[in-house]
Amino acid sequence: MAESNSVLYRQLPAIDKLLQLDEVQILVEQSGLHWVTACLREMQEQARTCISQFGKLPAWHDDWLKELSVRHQTLGQSALKSVFNLTGTVLHTNLGRAVMPTSAINAVSQVMNSPVTLEYSLDGAMRGHRDRAIADLLCELTGAEDACIVNNNAAAVLLLLATVANGQQVIVSRGELVEIGGAFRVPDVMAQAGCQLVEVGTTNRTHLRDYENAINEQTALLMKVHTSNYSIEGFTAEVEGDELAELGKKYQLPTAIDLGSGSMIDMITLGLPAEPMPQTYLAQGVDLVSISADKLLGGPQAGIILGKKKWIEAIQKHPLKRALRVDKMVLAALEATLKLYLTPEKLVTELPTLRWLTREPEVIQRSAENILVALQAFYGDKFIVEVESCLSQIGSGSLPIDRLPSFAVTFAPLDGKGSTLEQLASQWRRLPQPVIGRMKEGKLWLDLRCLDDEHALLQVLLS
Ligand SMILES: *Cc1c(COP(=O)(O)O)cnc(C)c1O
Repeated sequence: MAESNSVLYRQLPAIDKLLQLDEVQILVEQSGLHWVTACLREMQEQARTCISQFGKLPAWHDDWLKELSVRHQTLGQSALKSVFNLTGTVLHTNLGRAVMPTSAINAVSQVMNSPVTLEYSLDGAMRGHRDRAIADLLCELTGAEDACIVNNNAAAVLLLLATVANGQQVIVSRGELVEIGGAFRVPDVMAQAGCQLVEVGTTNRTHLRDYENAINEQTALLMKVHTSNYSIEGFTAEVEGDELAELGKKYQLPTAIDLGSGSMIDMITLGLPAEPMPQTYLAQGVDLVSISADKLLGGPQAGIILGKKKWIEAIQKHPLKRALRVDKMVLAALEATLKLYLTPEKLVTELPTLRWLTREPEVIQRSAENILVALQAFYGDKFIVEVESCLSQIGSGSLPIDRLPSFAVTFAPLDGKGSTLEQLASQWRRLPQPVIGRMKEGKLWLDLRCLDDEHALLQVLLS
């Protein structure tokens, strides 16, 4: 064994010999000597492992140049690949949440292409900070006195707490100590902001008197957190925004709500599950409300703090704001997204998130039926391919129990084997534009809610 292995090791080409070949020199010119050498070393390392573990040469040993050129092609691809999101989760955090409206895409490419008046006033009147123009738009849309824009809602909550309550106590209901996926936990954020969390009430019931009894001279803020991704059912009680605002006034304490997603339009009017609106809480007198820009709002990743001028001005001046501020691309995308809200009747056609969320099940069914026959012809020898009804999710911290009726093309392996299904999913993940579905009940489901181009999908699935 060891002896025959040494024969194999001797067959591995020397890297300096390979580097002299014309074909390899072309790659060196394109991507540099460093990359090509590193890639050849890696191939040699892999070939050695293959010999030591399996006593044979790797399959690509016949043609090192071809293998090198394949690896070179993958180098040229972006790490952020476009995919078909057919998971049935519209705002999929791992797939980048909201897809931008065309107006935002155009606005971003414009500000990328030339210097812009980010913090420069053409009329000489200094407007202060980079959020100014978009803060004005946010005020118009929500009735807030002022606004602040940061990297995401986690940053918004951190900055808000650090400004309003550093070194002091923040009162929060025990039923609202939320954890959002990706390590956002209310108690941890409090600690990072230098605040002391004071939990009041019980898991299922918190009353206004619980907040009131906890107030002392150390108290700096009364806070509510929207329980975005879970719901407590049954014998429950929570303190509403207006009650909290009134209590704050009585004790001259600020109030804040981390709303998570929030929606700037009433979801019910679109036939969707209700989602609290920042406008409502601001009108009730809550001082500060924070939301994400890339959840139901449908914009770029950002966090928005809306509220009273006095507090927003303090937040804008806090040293952390400099670390958490957004760049011109995010501001441009956010401005274009928010402008769509000035004409709400256009939202469901122009904002992809709301267009997909409001898509009628019959329309999705028709789309599934349009591509069914071609998929059956191509995959029918190994899979039962059918159109079936299913339920989509909004995603990104919306209630998992709020489901939207939808339709999927499903693939069930004729041999009944999970491995056959896994192979199919893995084959689709390796496509030039990967197709991401969902495994459920021994089938692979392609929920077509977020599919805009049937033809493009067929082109990759039938290749
Ligand atoms: C989603 C969410 C967050 C985190 O927002 P990001 O924009 O993802 O940072 C914080 N709080 C609540 C209640 C949320 O729903």
